[in-house]
Amino acid sequence: MTSATEPDTWDWKQLQDTDRKVIWHPYSSASGNLDAYPVVSASGVRLKLADGRELIDGMASWWCAIHGYNHPVMNRALEEQLGQMSHVMFGGLTHPPAVKLASILVDLTPASLNRVFFSDSGSVAVEVAMKMALQYWHAQDKPQKQKLVALRQGYHGDTFGAMSLCDPVTGMHHLFGDVLPKHYFAPAPECAFDEPCSDADIKAMADLLEAHHQEIAAVIVEPIVQGAGGMRFYSPEYLVKLRALCDAFDTLLIFDEIATGFGRTGKLFAMEHAAVEPDILCLGKSLTGGYMTLAATMCNSRVADGISNKGVGAFMHGPTFMGNPLACSAALASTELLISLPWQRTVQRINAALKLGLEPARELPGVVEVRTLGAIGVIELEQAVDMRKIQPMFVERGVWIRPFGKLVYTMPPFIMNDEDIATLCAAMVDVLATLG
Ligand SMILES: *Cc1c(COP(=O)(O)O)cnc(C)c1O
Repeated sequence: MTSATEPDTWDWKQLQDTDRKVIWHPYSSASGNLDAYPVVSASGVRLKLADGRELIDGMASWWCAIHGYNHPVMNRALEEQLGQMSHVMFGGLTHPPAVKLASILVDLTPASLNRVFFSDSGSVAVEVAMKMALQYWHAQDKPQKQKLVALRQGYHGDTFGAMSLCDPVTGMHHLFGDVLPKHYFAPAPECAFDEPCSDADIKAMADLLEAHHQEIAAVIVEPIVQGAGGMRFYSPEYLVKLRALCDAFDTLLIFDEIATGFGRTGKLFAMEHAAVEPDILCLGKSLTGGYMTLAATMCNSRVADGISNKGVGAFMHGPTFMGNPLACSAALASTELLISLPWQRTVQRINAALKLGLEPARELPGVVEVRTLGAIGVIELEQAVDMRKIQPMFVERGVWIRPFGKLVYTMPPFIMNDEDIATLCAAMVDVLATLG
C-alpha cells in the first residue's frame, strides 16, 4: 500500500510486477529478469519516471522524437484531427491529411520520387518496397528477377521479408533459415564517410551483380548510415557507384531511410550527401516526430507505371490502417515544423556538442572508435556491454541511453540544448570509465 512518505513507491512496484507477468518487451525474455522502467510522462527532452526521477532522453525513442515530447504544435495538430476523424478506411476513400502529407513528401524528396504508398511501420514499408520490386519485374515479363541484394551489417526490420534482408548473423537467419527467403549479401562498405570510395571498395557488390543480375530485382541499402546493424557511416561515393552498377545491370535501387530521414545525418535525407536518387524509398521512424506509427514507401514513375500499366495492373497490398488520418496529421505537422526551423544549423550544433562531449571516451580502455555524424554519436567498444549492469548506471546519472551489443550511442531529439547534450555525453563517458 502507499505509504505517506513514499507516495509513488507502491505504484512503481505494482506496475513493474504486473509488467513482468503479462508483457513481452522488445528483444527480451519472458522470464523477465530485466525490469522495464515505468514512465509516467515525457516533456521536451525529459522522460519522467514513476518514482519522480527525470531522465534526459538520448534515444529520441529509437530515432523518432525529433521535436521532443509533448510539443505544443504537434499536440494541437492531433487534437484538431481528432475532432475531424481519427480513422477511415483508405480503400476508395481519401482525406486531406494523407493528400497533404504525400504532397509534401513528394516535394521534399528527389524529383523522380512522385508516388507514395502509406503503411503502418518501417518493416512493412520494406515489405512493400520488396513487393514493388518483384511485381515490377513480373510486369516486365522478367519474373525470374526475384532476388534482392542487401549489405552485411544492415538492418531493415523484423518481419519475415525485412528480416531476410538483415545481416545474416544479427538478423537471426540461423533461427529461421529454412523459412526466410534467400537473398544475396554484399560486404558492408569499408570506405568511411569522409573518404573516397575506390572501385575495390565496391568490387564484391559489382561481382555479385555481374554474376546474378538476371535473377536480381533490386539492391536495398540504408544510405550513408547503417543503423541498428552496427551504427556504421560510409562514403557517399559508394552510393554513386552503386547507382551506376544498378543501372548497368538493370536492377532497381531501394534506399531504406527509415532511420536516416528527416535531418538526422545533417541532410534532410541521407541520400542527399551523394545526390543519388533511388527507384524506391522507405520512410518511417521520425516521419511522425515519434507521435504515431506510420511509414511510407515512395517510388518513381518507372516503378509505378511499370506495375500499373502491365500485368495484373494493381499493386497487391493494402493494410487496414493505411493512411490513418491521425498518423498522417502527426507526420504533416512534424514535417512542416521541421522545415520551418533552421534544422541544418541545429544538427550542426548537436554534432559539435557530441564531438566535444564524447571526445574523452577515446582515451578509455576497451573503446575501439568514437564517431559522430549529424545528430548521431557512437562509442564502439571491443566487447558487448552487460545490459543488466549498465542500464541502471545510466538511470542513476539521470540519462536514458540504451546500448546494444558493442555500441553505446545517442541520437537526441533536435531540441536538446548543449548543456543537456554535455550531461548526456559525460554520463556515457563516466559509465564506460567506471565499468573500465
Ligand atoms: C527501424 C528500422 C526499420 C524497421 O522499422 P519498424 O518501424 O521498427 O518496423 C527498418 N529499416 C531501418 C533502417 C530501421 O532503422
